[in-house]
Amino acid sequence: MDFKDLYNAALSVAVPKELSDCAQAASVGAAILTASGNVYTGVCIDTACSMGFCAEHAAAAAMITAGESRILKIVAVGYKGNIIPPCGRCREFLSQICFENSEARVLVNENTVVKLCELLPWDWRKI
Ligand SMILES: [Zn+2]
Repeated sequence: MDFKDLYNAALSVAVPKELSDCAQAASVGAAILTASGNVYTGVCIDTACSMGFCAEHAAAAAMITAGESRILKIVAVGYKGNIIPPCGRCREFLSQICFENSEARVLVNENTVVKLCELLPWDWRKI
C-alpha cells in the first residue's frame, strides 16, 4: 500500500463532529499501515481542559486493540486534506510501543517521507 492509499484512509475519517458543548472530534484523521499489511485509522478528540488526544494516538490504540504494534507507515491528515506531521508526544508514543517503529515511514508533507527516528533526534534511550 502506498502513501496515497494511506492518505485517503486518513482523510476518509477526518469528518469533524461536535460531541458536546466542550468537545469536538475528527478534525484530524490518521492511518497506520502495520507490518501485517493491515490499516488502522483514528481521529483526534479535542476537549476543554486539554483532555483530548491526537488522531495518531487513536489509530495506535485501534492497532494495539487488534493485537499489532509494528508500524510501517503512518500519515495524519486534516479534514481539509492538509498533511500534518505527528506532534512530539505522538512521535515518542509511537516509538515506545514498538522499538522497531523508529524505522516507520512518516509522510510529513506532500513530497517528504522521513523515518520516525529522524523526527526524534537525540533519543533518550540511546544515551
Ligand atoms: Zn500527537
